[in-house]
Amino acid sequence: MAEHEGLEFGKSDFVLLDEVNMEHFMENLKLRFEKGRIYTFIGEVVVSVNPYREMNVYGKEAIAAYRGRELYENPPHLYAVADAAYKAMKRRAKDTCIVISGESGAGKTEASKYIMQYIAAITNPSQREEVESVKNVLLKSNCVLEAFGNAKTNRNDNSSRFGKYMDINFSFSGDPTGGHINNYLLEKSRVVHQQAGERNFHSFYQLLGGGPQSLLESFHLQGDPALYTYTKEGAGCSTATSDLSSHRAVRTALKVIGFSENEIESIYKVLAAILLLGNVGFRTDEESVLVEGEGEAVDHIAQLTSTPAEGVAKGLLFRTVATGGGDVIEKAHTEQEACFGRDAFAKALYERLFGWIIGRINTVIEVKGYNPMLHGKNTVIGVLDIYGFEIFDNNSFEQFCINYCNEKLQQLFIELILGQEQEEYQREGVAWLHIEYFNNQIIVDLVEQAHKGIISILDEACLTGGRVTDTVCLGSMSTRLAQHPHYTDRQLTPNDKTMDFQKHFRIRHYAGDVTYSVEGFLDKNKDLLFQDFKRLMFNSTNPVLTEMWPDGGLSIMEVTKRPMTAASLFKNSIVALVENLACKEPYYVRCVKPNEMKSPLLLDEARCRHQVAYLGLLENVRVRRAGFAYRQAYNRFLQRYKMTCEYTWPNHLMATDREAVEAIVTGHGFQDDVAYGNTKLFVRSPRSLFCLEQERAA
Ligand code: ATP
Ligand code: MG
Repeated sequence: MAEHEGLEFGKSDFVLLDEVNMEHFMENLKLRFEKGRIYTFIGEVVVSVNPYREMNVYGKEAIAAYRGRELYENPPHLYAVADAAYKAMKRRAKDTCIVISGESGAGKTEASKYIMQYIAAITNPSQREEVESVKNVLLKSNCVLEAFGNAKTNRNDNSSRFGKYMDINFSFSGDPTGGHINNYLLEKSRVVHQQAGERNFHSFYQLLGGGPQSLLESFHLQGDPALYTYTKEGAGCSTATSDLSSHRAVRTALKVIGFSENEIESIYKVLAAILLLGNVGFRTDEESVLVEGEGEAVDHIAQLTSTPAEGVAKGLLFRTVATGGGDVIEKAHTEQEACFGRDAFAKALYERLFGWIIGRINTVIEVKGYNPMLHGKNTVIGVLDIYGFEIFDNNSFEQFCINYCNEKLQQLFIELILGQEQEEYQREGVAWLHIEYFNNQIIVDLVEQAHKGIISILDEACLTGGRVTDTVCLGSMSTRLAQHPHYTDRQLTPNDKTMDFQKHFRIRHYAGDVTYSVEGFLDKNKDLLFQDFKRLMFNSTNPVLTEMWPDGGLSIMEVTKRPMTAASLFKNSIVALVENLACKEPYYVRCVKPNEMKSPLLLDEARCRHQVAYLGLLENVRVRRAGFAYRQAYNRFLQRYKMTCEYTWPNHLMATDREAVEAIVTGHGFQDDVAYGNTKLFVRSPRSLFCLEQERAA
């Protein structure tokens, strides 16, 4: 349907497939990939295949070609979706959102950046300074977020280890006035441990490899990541961009955004403190646990965090606890507890740092001085770049959270896409046939339902006290969920010899079965950090650190109350996200990763088939076609096909556009295949359009 593409490039919209099945879908996807067409529509959804090479499709000319045009006028592109979202926002004052999904390495973050660049390029034609500065901060924030939130993994050299939702606010005249960033579940376990071949977050290597010598010295650091426990795994990994140039770019970005020198220095000090913390070891000497070595590292950490050295040492070796009787006592750690506490502290330092940086960016970009009475409605485009469904060899708590998030987003997709279709038919006064699809609400409930769902059971186990182990908790889950059609307990294992049946459960997700190892679930869910560290940081003489640790001011009695668990916090944030998305007009980008080798040449069919299945793309096409595969405003339809009918070419002989369109449709004999809406023609099967397209091309 797109004007600038011939059929040799395959079908530019999957709804035009002769038959909707996996074979045809894959054939088209492959053909287009091989011809360098990485984008394909499903109606208004864009399917994107990572090209793993530079594509010459993002330049100024491309931006000009898509600007202000209708979705079908150009070949499929991210810009078409960005423009549709922008138009809806500007012309109809609709809040819109663009949801980008797909697995790690599929191209979500790159897509989100192209979309933002497009929006930046088409707004503020008069170059007003205050708007330019907002745009600049929005664009620069990506560089900072990637430095602190991305890492090299085995799947992606620049993998986002957090979910990101960014709102861009627009004035009545359609120019960006500000924005807001939300982040979801930073993978903080990476701070203390990485899989073989993976790196810690980029920021550490950028500091070590790019920080000026004098800075490193004042931080008591040497520039070699191999010297630090937390970075040595990734020390030898090569990266696409040098850590040195990235370090400079991030520093510049921080300055442009408006971070003060002191704030920038504090950020790097926290990174340095974490690196030094990782090298702190413990030994047991006549029953008491001590910090290994001369305790120099402790002094340095204290200096970097502007806290007393005794405080750091004490925090590493003791914890303050409230006894049942209401007394407060100090309890010495075992060696194991000390290691656990140290790593928890390092993870928390990083997580707080990341959250603080985002909060700080938000204060800069938040819309200020906007008065809706004066300026009209302030509308929003949200861009969501969030982790896709994950099935690894070993799936843990993180995968459980991520996959739950994907169930929620799938639920939203179903509601919004179907809801939207239905709404349009209603608005246009057209009757339609309902199509059945799998509603995954049952799986969402399995995870999140109050008192019955997996998260509730986990939380109960965490709050019961020390004796409940992961396996005990699993037992409780398996008893209570035994009847659930999407849950399988330990009985799954007799056939599965490779797994320890005491430790696994399986969820039948909408995207496939995932077996989770319950090991570590409770610790990760409790996410325990000794209050002593929080208080220490809160009492730092560096105000930046105090700001990162507001809860460090609470007394030990206050914090002993039921804390929120990690799973519940995550659930709440995802519920809020979905509520926020649900009241916006949605646009979707579905990203597909063509192969595991980062090769621009290979489309691994089995891998892609799997993604097409779990992204629900075939269902998407079916739903789109079950109603009407194609719809077009009467005047546009006429423009495109007028030359195929004697009543409309060379002269328009009918009274209205609608009548002219009726003449074309009847003239080609597919009047039974269409419905006439108030402003649009709806065509049920794409075959009818083929004949028009062919005639047009002839
Ligand atoms: P993750 O979930 O791990 O964050 P992702 O889906 O965000 O993955 P990206 O980081 O966007 O994946 O893409 C991975 C890599 O693929 C990029 O670093 C880039 O090399 C390449 N890539 C992705 N999209 C494009 C594109 N449109 N053009 C050229 N290269 C691309
Ligand atoms: Mg990413």
